[in-house]
Amino acid sequence: MSTRYQNFIDGKWVDALGGETFENRNPADWEEVVGVFAKSGKEDVERAVESAREGLEAWKRVPPPIRGNILKKAADLLVERQEAFAEDMTREMGKVIAETSGDIQEAIDTGYYAGGEGRRFFGRTVPSELRNKAAFTIHLPMGVVGVICPWNFPMAIPSWKIFPALLAGNAVVFKPASDVPLSGTNFIKTLVDAGVHPKAINLVHGPGSSVGNAMQENTAVRALSFTGSTEIGKRIARKAADTLQRVSLELGGKNAQIVWEDADLDLALYGVLWGAYGTTGQRCTATSRLIVHEKVFKPFMEMLQQAVEALELGNGLDPKTDVGPLINEAQLRTVAEYVAIGQQEGATLLTGGEPYEEGVCKKGFFYRPTVFTDVTPEMRIAKEEIFGPVLSVLKVRDWKEAVYVHNNTDYGLSSSIYTRDVNLAFHAMEELVAGITYVNAPTIGAECHLPFGGCKETGNGHREGGWSPYEFFTETKTVYVDYSGALQRAQIDTEEA
Ligand code: NAD
Ligand code: MN
Repeated sequence: MSTRYQNFIDGKWVDALGGETFENRNPADWEEVVGVFAKSGKEDVERAVESAREGLEAWKRVPPPIRGNILKKAADLLVERQEAFAEDMTREMGKVIAETSGDIQEAIDTGYYAGGEGRRFFGRTVPSELRNKAAFTIHLPMGVVGVICPWNFPMAIPSWKIFPALLAGNAVVFKPASDVPLSGTNFIKTLVDAGVHPKAINLVHGPGSSVGNAMQENTAVRALSFTGSTEIGKRIARKAADTLQRVSLELGGKNAQIVWEDADLDLALYGVLWGAYGTTGQRCTATSRLIVHEKVFKPFMEMLQQAVEALELGNGLDPKTDVGPLINEAQLRTVAEYVAIGQQEGATLLTGGEPYEEGVCKKGFFYRPTVFTDVTPEMRIAKEEIFGPVLSVLKVRDWKEAVYVHNNTDYGLSSSIYTRDVNLAFHAMEELVAGITYVNAPTIGAECHLPFGGCKETGNGHREGGWSPYEFFTETKTVYVDYSGALQRAQIDTEEA
């Protein structure tokens, strides 16, 4: 019998009202059922929103520094539970244990940041144009907010949204991705254990179509923070237009690392290996394109092929493993389809290009780390997100061509350049259309106290990380206090200079 997990609504662990469940399996060994979870629908969301409305009334009155202390306590508990939660995460979604531990570390760091923010939840004090009048701003909670997350950062991404939402005094309804409901459960349990008001945090498992839709149809949910695919993000934006629900959308990417003729090639190699095959290429910031100056192309391709073929595939719990499985069978199929597309488009398969079923990998969704060369900018494998261990290499002659190739995609999340030329590095910062540019570092590696997000179809302009989500999750109220005892008309009763 596998363990049964429930929703958390109204301060209690409860089954879905319809009594249905779904299985959470291990992608490195699909015979292993990690747990059985509540499969919720619209009525469960309605109850969760009701609970959140009650929780909001109590939670928003807790002074922000005290809310911060509670969130800091949650981060302390995550430190204690880090090892166990990392194992759970590797079992439910496959990334190697060093990365799942890092995922939880990101949640810990985000929790401590939120803790500090409790005593730094500043508005602005602004001079008035009139005498005997004060003006300032305060941040008020939005109310009930929804959080919908993808499966690739099962605790880090929920933490980016939920810690700031709670610090700001909101009540949350959270739906984790169906492939990683255990990490979502672990996170919520920790928040409750730390002392967050139990009705201010609600967990609803289930399919995005029904649970996600219900979170948009209920007009009490004033803001929705979503991370996931561009396709679903657009659907959410369209639906949000009906009620003017505030939505933050963090979506897909097609990130590139540029290797210039003067680059330290060893360093650039470590960068692309980590960027392209970390998390099995399933990061929104994964290096999916490599743009290489023609002068170093040949030697760099030789180094790359050798290093990629040396990567060890296996179960992420084994410390020898470099690359874990894909998240599920559908994603394995998508990767295989893109590899077929690349071949039809005329790209050359340098290495990989097939599933991997040897030894312990025969019961999982493993795919060989893959490199395509002879990729041209108009090919689909040069422009579309694949979300797997597939790297498309493009050769360029000069900087103008590099910028064109880099920007020739609908996405714009992360970018990277390896060069020793400081002038070129500054051109890259200005000319690469992306929310993040790394110089001499791979496209992955964001830190939680800086803004994170992208351009074009990577999102709708919001940023997560650092101070940005505190804006998203609050209403800014402007306050004027006139203590003159007389009617003073702005713009009219002002003094001459
Ligand atoms: P997805 O869009 O399929 O699912 C994301 C979440 O949305 C899941 O919880 C899903 O259940 C839910 N959902 C599905 N249909 C919905 C609907 N109609 N309404 C509301 N919610 C719905 O994405 P995924 O496969 O889980 O994640 C991979 C994608 O996420 C990739 O495109 C990746 O680039 C992106 N991503 C982006 C970032 C970023 O910060 N920019 C970070 C990580 C992942
Ligand atoms: Mn799973």
